[in-house]
Amino acid sequence: MAEQIVELAPDESKEISFEATPKEVKTYSVSVNGLEGSFKAIARIAPCVYCGAQFTTESDLVAHMEANHPGKPYIVWASLPEENVLLTPGSQYSIKAKVFVPPTVVGERYIFAFWSYQWECIAGFINVGEGTPAGFYIGEAASYHCLHRMGRWYCPPLGENTVYSDCYLAGIDRWYSNPVWKSVDIGLKVNFIA
Ligand SMILES: [Zn+2]
Repeated sequence: MAEQIVELAPDESKEISFEATPKEVKTYSVSVNGLEGSFKAIARIAPCVYCGAQFTTESDLVAHMEANHPGKPYIVWASLPEENVLLTPGSQYSIKAKVFVPPTVVGERYIFAFWSYQWECIAGFINVGEGTPAGFYIGEAASYHCLHRMGRWYCPPLGENTVYSDCYLAGIDRWYSNPVWKSVDIGLKVNFIA
């Protein structure tokens, strides 16, 4: 817990500030010596998945995409529901993300995958397509904490793990054959605890 001590004479006031870096999109409550307040955390703006350029606001990222990568899908932000994820073999955690998707036709969809440690641990994708108009979509993808598959365990190390993203354009006859991007570090960390 952060602490600052200020001494005040009667009728005197001083401004103090604390910095906090939340890892989750929600309202946090703050208590300062019994005084209650709150602030709202927003999701981490993703870097450009094509060139790695970083932005602090959604509108700056959108402007960069429209100018440099027009008509291409991308991630706007991604977030985890909890700051620390309890590593429980076989269970899942989810990653929420806002994505931009160009127009699709029937039989075509964009698949957004998020994973940390191993691709095998992906449990669900964000799918947008089958005739959707161009626009922003919010969805949730899932990953296994720790997975037993084909005779071996895929268990991430405890502590901070980088979250990577893949995107595929899938059709009726093709599944993962058309990567738009692969293994891009989107600036999101998942902290596994025992
Ligand atoms: Zn770029």
